[in-house]
Amino acid sequence: MSAGSTRFHRQLILPGFSEAAQQRLRGSHALVLGCGALGCASADLLVRAGVGAITLVDRDIVEETNLQRQCLYTDEDARRGVPKAEAAAARLRAIDPGCSVRGWADDVRSENVLGYAEHATILIDGLDNFETRYLANDVAVSKGIPYIYCAAVGYEGMTFPVVPGEGPCLRCLYPEPPAPGVAPTCDRAGIFGPAIGVTAGFAMAVAIRRMAGITAPSDGDLLSVDLLDGRTVRVPLGREQRVAGCPACERRQFEFLAGGRSSQATTLCGRNAVQVMPSRTGSIDLGELCGKLAAHGSFSVESGRLRGTLEREPAQSGEHFELTVFPDGRAIVRGSPEPADAVRIYAKYIGL
Ligand SMILES: [Zn+2]
Repeated sequence: MSAGSTRFHRQLILPGFSEAAQQRLRGSHALVLGCGALGCASADLLVRAGVGAITLVDRDIVEETNLQRQCLYTDEDARRGVPKAEAAAARLRAIDPGCSVRGWADDVRSENVLGYAEHATILIDGLDNFETRYLANDVAVSKGIPYIYCAAVGYEGMTFPVVPGEGPCLRCLYPEPPAPGVAPTCDRAGIFGPAIGVTAGFAMAVAIRRMAGITAPSDGDLLSVDLLDGRTVRVPLGREQRVAGCPACERRQFEFLAGGRSSQATTLCGRNAVQVMPSRTGSIDLGELCGKLAAHGSFSVESGRLRGTLEREPAQSGEHFELTVFPDGRAIVRGSPEPADAVRIYAKYIGL
């Protein structure tokens, strides 16, 4: 028995698995977009299962509040403020030196996503915002690469695969991303660690079987779980759920990949601040948002705008990031002249 067979023995003796299936996994390359809780749990499962190559892209650094659920990071990573992609890559290399691991501390955008996806055989969703999920969907459909959608917040999680040519895409099911501030974010609504494990477990079951060439009747299904009442809902997805006229999979108009649907972040000259204009402006209930942000600092609504300081977000100056939000979703993030910092803060506390 080869060394590889020893490592994967308990998987190889499962019904459906074989040396050939294991070889197919070794020949696969997963692109993990985002290395938060779902990205960590997914990457850990993929590398331990024997995927041959994994690329991780994440724009953030490890913080103490991540450690409750982001399973690849340590207390020391948080103290040192290591970029997540770097810390996760080091951990994954230590788990299986036979896996080719690359980590990129970068923001996934329309300008760079195709470069990262070039050799990918599957896209894994570890994202914290909808704008980038719609970008991932465009990449999947335009390049014919399966994309495993995955999201979790509060006690709930949801996953389904987008398999071009087989089932519906993200835009068939949800034609447009939610308006800014509408969908809950983990930073506002919290996140229950076990919801991550269950959601990533279901999602990676599909991903690993697909890469290994093992089919199961539930492979195309949408699955949602609620770990407060223990409920799971399974919705079979297939060709029937593809929507006639879908802008992505039927009309092949990849608006997010073309860059026309991404939020715009503009540095405000000399002000150590950036304006963020979300791709989809809408009407935000500033009073409601103010209540949700109360746990993160002092916020108030005055003269039709929400203002406050994020007390857990230190800015380079030694002060803290300040947020001003207008009713249409536009925001000014003060504390850094870097657009990437502002978009990160916006996605975390308002939601993109
Ligand atoms: Zn579609």
